[in-house]
Amino acid sequence: MSKRTVYYIEGDGIGPEVWGPTRPIINAALEKAYAGANTLEWKELLAGEKAFKETGEYLPQTTLDTLKTADLAMKGPLQTPVGKGFRSLNVTIRQTFDLYACIRPIQYFKGIESPVKRPDLVDIVVFRENTEDVYAGIEWSSNSAEAKRVIDFLVGEMGAKIDSSAGIGIKPITPAGSKRLVRRALDFALEHNRESVTLVHKGNIMKYTEGGFRQWGYDLAAEDYVGKVVKEGEEATGKVILNDRIADAMFQELLMRPEKYSVLATTNLNGDYLSDALAAQVGGLGLAPGVNMGDTLAFYEATHGTAPTIAGKDMANPGSLILSGAMMLEHLGWHEAADLIKNSVEKSLAAKKVTVDLSSQISGATTVGCKEFGEIILANL
Ligand code: NAD
Repeated sequence: MSKRTVYYIEGDGIGPEVWGPTRPIINAALEKAYAGANTLEWKELLAGEKAFKETGEYLPQTTLDTLKTADLAMKGPLQTPVGKGFRSLNVTIRQTFDLYACIRPIQYFKGIESPVKRPDLVDIVVFRENTEDVYAGIEWSSNSAEAKRVIDFLVGEMGAKIDSSAGIGIKPITPAGSKRLVRRALDFALEHNRESVTLVHKGNIMKYTEGGFRQWGYDLAAEDYVGKVVKEGEEATGKVILNDRIADAMFQELLMRPEKYSVLATTNLNGDYLSDALAAQVGGLGLAPGVNMGDTLAFYEATHGTAPTIAGKDMANPGSLILSGAMMLEHLGWHEAADLIKNSVEKSLAAKKVTVDLSSQISGATTVGCKEFGEIILANL
């Protein structure tokens, strides 16, 4: 008998709607697979608009204090107003709990009609560094006193050429931050018999940050993975191949030859773009699951945002959050329940009664609301 506690944040926008069917489906899969032997206890934590309404704060201290003790959590999307001096709650959570690895498996489900010819060739797990890079939050707006001070230093003392009106953002990337992310990707590839890990970077231009990431990835393999990981071109029987690609070329590769890639390890910004682009190749954000992991806390989340234009209209696809739940069950070793959910999603897609994001991609499909799509997945478990 095993009972685990999952803390959950409902989220803003479509968050409450996609949560609607998610817990019943996860609970039902567990019941079906284990008849009460493995269960989850769900405890809500406040964040975002709901927290603001109830407590006057967007990220209350009690939420942060509880998460400090947690090992499992799940969240819906949280809204970040653009350019209003409002720090992203998502980024704050990732940094506070040092959730340094964003892991997104991108896999094709039968029945989806995709913008590419062979979406079934996509079976890729993206490991995105989550705490560094231009997302570190070190930035100052154009003409602010802080930006001017940084520019004065860079121009006066470092000989840089920068217009005095520039907005400034800093891109820190460290050897330790890069290595712990690449380590996760290599360990995953070894555990799951994946053929290769590809370091994706823009090191030809940003030599000491993106180029550093690439180099530290290879250094780690040479330090800690001798006999298990080899470089491209070396004898690879029974070993994982570590190679690297430049980010812009990688976008082309993933469209034209996705079957050549298995696990990607990359910096924060590249990973953000690449994982959304890959998700689009197999059906869009509505079906893309993900997790942000640190050394103690695994925080599963819908990879899409709050979708404000469809929020409150019963139009959202709950698939991303539901499949994130399946990922969490896999992480717990509860594979039977995870498989029930994934098979049910596939069966439900084949029945062609789907939310609007998918019905527009599946010929002959009927559009149903978020609630009804959830009911179909539940019935197909
Ligand atoms: P978005 O993911 O909310 O929407 C992009 C597009 O995808 C929209 O057309 C939307 O309608 C559609 N979409 C997204 N999820 C869907 C679903 N489940 N079903 C059907 N269609 C779906 O991205 P955005 O518009 O750039 O961001 C809106 C807000 O969400 C912003 O405040 C942003 O900061 C926030 N955001 C949060 C997270 C997170 O919490 N992890 C991630 C991304 C964006």
